[in-house]
Amino acid sequence: MDEFNKIPLQGLSGAICKLMDVPAPDQSEGTMTELVNAVLDKTNGEKIDRVLMFNPDAIGQNTCLRYADKFKSVREIAPIELAIKTVVPPKTPVCFGTMYTGASPTVHGIQRYTKPVIKIDSIFDAMIRAGKKPCIVAVKNSSMSKIFNEREMDYYLEDYDGCVVQKAAELIKEDKYDLICVYNQEFDDVMHRSHPNSKRSQRAIDNYNRSFDMLADQIRKYWTDHNTLLGYAPDHGTHREWYLLGNHGKNIPADMNIFHYYGVFPKKI
Ligand SMILES: [Zn+2]
Repeated sequence: MDEFNKIPLQGLSGAICKLMDVPAPDQSEGTMTELVNAVLDKTNGEKIDRVLMFNPDAIGQNTCLRYADKFKSVREIAPIELAIKTVVPPKTPVCFGTMYTGASPTVHGIQRYTKPVIKIDSIFDAMIRAGKKPCIVAVKNSSMSKIFNEREMDYYLEDYDGCVVQKAAELIKEDKYDLICVYNQEFDDVMHRSHPNSKRSQRAIDNYNRSFDMLADQIRKYWTDHNTLLGYAPDHGTHREWYLLGNHGKNIPADMNIFHYYGVFPKKI
C-alpha cells in the first residue's frame, strides 16, 4: 500500500449536500460523484432526508485491511466503500475542517493542530440556510467540539465516546435533526500512547464498530419514514514511528489513505 488514494476528501460535503438537495458550502471544491451515484442507485434516484455521520478518529485504510474481520459488520451495514485521500497535514482538526467545508486546509485556515472556529462556510451553514437542522455530538474539548462552533445549531458535548454514542442514540429516537455528526476518539487516544496494533488499540476498534452497529439499529428502528444515509467516516490514518509509538501527520499513504463506508436505509412506506 504505497500509493495514494484518488478520491479527494474535499468532495464529501458537496456529495452530502447534493443528496439532500441543498446547495453546497460556498468554497466546496467538488462533489464526490462516486458517493452520489452509489447512493442514488440504492434509493432509485430519490433524495436523502436524514444523514448520520459517525466519525471514528484515526481509522486508516491500513487498519481496515489489517483487521478486516473487525470491519465485517461495518461493511454489511455500510457496503459503499470509498478509497479516499485525506488532506495534508493529516491531523484531526485539519481533516475535519476539510470534511465539513469541502475546502482545502489553505482555504479553511487550519493547517496544523489547532482548534479555532472555522469562519468559512461549512456544511452546517449550508444546511441551516436550507432550513434543515444539523447537530454535532462530540467529546468535550475535541476538535469536532470546537471548530464548527458559533453556528445557530445544537452541540452536545460529552465526557467520552460512550456518552457521545448514548446521546446520539437518543437523538436518533427523537428524530428532530436532519444531519447528526457523531465524533469518537478512543483509537486516536490509545494508539498515540501505544501503537496502532496494540491490544488497547484493537479494543478501541471494537468499541467504535460496536457503536456503529448500535447507531445503525437505532436508525432501522426510528427513522423508518426517512431515506437515511449512514456514514463511517474517519479523518486520517496512522503509522508507527521508529521510536515505536503510534503517530499521524505525515504526507504518507499510511496517514493519508482512508476508507469511508456508507449505507442507505430507504424509507419503509
Ligand atoms: Zn484524528
